[in-house]
Amino acid sequence: MNRKGRKYLDILIVEDEEAIANLISVNLSEEGYRCTCAYDGEEGADYFEQGSYDLVLLDIMLPKLNGYELLEYIKPSGTPVIFLTAKGDVKDRIKGLKLGADDYIGKPFQIGELLARVEAVLRRSGKGGRMLYFQDVAIDTVSRRVVKKGEDIRLTVKEFDLLVELVRNKNIALYRDRLYEKVWKEPFTGETRTLDSHIQRLRKKLGWDHYIKTVFRIGYRLEENL
Ligand code: CA
Repeated sequence: MNRKGRKYLDILIVEDEEAIANLISVNLSEEGYRCTCAYDGEEGADYFEQGSYDLVLLDIMLPKLNGYELLEYIKPSGTPVIFLTAKGDVKDRIKGLKLGADDYIGKPFQIGELLARVEAVLRRSGKGGRMLYFQDVAIDTVSRRVVKKGEDIRLTVKEFDLLVELVRNKNIALYRDRLYEKVWKEPFTGETRTLDSHIQRLRKKLGWDHYIKTVFRIGYRLEENL
């Protein structure tokens, strides 16, 4: 146990800019995480093989092995990965998500944002998080079944992914662009109809009109405490 009374969680940071790697390490350590820094892809792979990590923060442009190559190596272990991408580099973000990264953070970032994303990914990965529940709905993320009051609700692939994203981030306002990129795995062009119509259908199929809130100029929030 650390001083915050939590079990130590180990985070591997793979980032060749030492100043950034160390900044992340210092801040996460202050929050009670145990951090290891690797400064190139090969070193990252070595540490990953030798250690046991709860999360990997992974830069994309790395010497020796790049972040995508390293992700392919890490992914089969089921360890969650957050990509560190250059801000605004949509192609990198989408490629990372498609390859199975759990989230991304654009550099430069605010430490507060980094901490929030790390916590959210760790919470969701919560090992054994197969079932999700919200109100009277149960979601099985492995068989992709959704049951409401004993009845199966039929959702399309994207409706299901969207539902999981909302439930995993309940009570948090989700930006349209991030939500879109996470679910569709393509760049958000600013065209909101696709996302909005999927939200509408989810509200209708689940009877969640009052739970899925529209957040003015931002996006959506699944609200638990009405
Ligand atoms: Ca780099």
